[in-house]
Amino acid sequence: MNIIYQQHDLSDKQARALMVSKELAVDTELTGLDVKSDRLCLVQLRALDCSDFYLIQIKDGQTYPNLTKVLANPKSVKIFHYARMDMLMIYKRLGIWVVPVFCTKIAVLLARPKKGHALHNVLKELFKIEMCGAEETTSDWTRTLTKKQQNYAATDVLYLHDLKRVLTDMLADTNRLELANKCFEFLPTRCQMDMDWGERDIFGYNPK
Ligand code: MN
Repeated sequence: MNIIYQQHDLSDKQARALMVSKELAVDTELTGLDVKSDRLCLVQLRALDCSDFYLIQIKDGQTYPNLTKVLANPKSVKIFHYARMDMLMIYKRLGIWVVPVFCTKIAVLLARPKKGHALHNVLKELFKIEMCGAEETTSDWTRTLTKKQQNYAATDVLYLHDLKRVLTDMLADTNRLELANKCFEFLPTRCQMDMDWGERDIFGYNPK
């Protein structure tokens, strides 16, 4: 695991290396989970079959044109676990929808509806992998990151490519791949509704 941690945009060379990958595993760290008041602090990226883990820390007042270009690349599928939150926070800060996208959480819920969806449980069940505890989820991602935080952040994108592969097979076996793809395509719309409509379900018969 080669962690490349930087508090500025990707270089042109780094961006080129990431642009050629047909898949990117992506995660973000935020100040919190409120879509209105919280903000993007860190973007973690890993290309397919690559041991480089990019951790790009997002600072106030800086621009990230290369990171934005990589995330908006229409030729690479971006893999998230719970894309809905990450996509929304990236949109708020960088102004682009990260598409096309594969959300492993939606895939898990569709492939095995009666079981759990937490990433550490899914990895344990499918790959017999024990992820370390979630103690860093509440840590401060706005300051210079410790080695421990860097390792934790990189681990979040370590298994996403493998997970996508396995879940795609499971979805195909259960005839739910098309449904999953339609859900993924709907995600930018879902995010826009999160910003403007909150929890109100406009598909409901009698929305409260
Ligand atoms: Mn994370």
